[in-house]
Amino acid sequence: MRKSLFNIAALLTGFRTTFGYFFAKQPTIAYPDVKKQHAPRFHGLHELRRYADGQERCIGCELCSIACPANAITVIGGENTPELRRSPGERGAASYEIDELRCIFCGMCEEACPTDAIVLTPRFEMADYRRSGFVYAKDRLLVPPEAGVGEAPNERPNGIPSDLGFVAKKKSTVDIQTGYSATHRGTILKTQRRGLAG
Ligand code: SF4
Ligand code: SF4
Repeated sequence: MRKSLFNIAALLTGFRTTFGYFFAKQPTIAYPDVKKQHAPRFHGLHELRRYADGQERCIGCELCSIACPANAITVIGGENTPELRRSPGERGAASYEIDELRCIFCGMCEEACPTDAIVLTPRFEMADYRRSGFVYAKDRLLVPPEAGVGEAPNERPNGIPSDLGFVAKKKSTVDIQTGYSATHRGTILKTQRRGLAG
């Protein structure tokens, strides 16, 4: 009899924990319909900003690439000409790529940039089935002209932007047949035989 009472007490003690969680507020959310507010200084997907006149802020100086501890950025600078003026001054980025798989989202590129061109946004939805889909070139990094100039980190409202954006919506433009070879970075990596391409 005494042993049975002891077992019932043990059961009730165990169920106290179960029922405690049963009636507690659920920690899960109905993602993707509901998105969790993240930290104000969360580092997400990159964005290349423009000036108000539509010109690109990036001047192709490669400082971001040099500062990057993960070797994730490849910039190829190009001269501006009267026919092709990307940015103010003499040079702009003829090609700009970030391999988001290599990126550790440290923000060093943002810190190094003299023109506040490259910034890390709060966008985090970048899942893809292909490795090549994580190599973001200017077509996906650059703020489209109709979207304004892009927000500097200290101008952003906390949390998720209403526009999850151009970058998140548009998936890879890399041809699946050519894969990594279709990007400047892929070519460079193959040339250097680092074993990461393909
Ligand atoms: S956030 Fe850090 S790791 Fe990612 S591209 Fe910028 S400097 Fe490189
Ligand atoms: S993003 Fe900034 S640091 Fe990087 S190449 Fe352009 S101007 Fe230079």
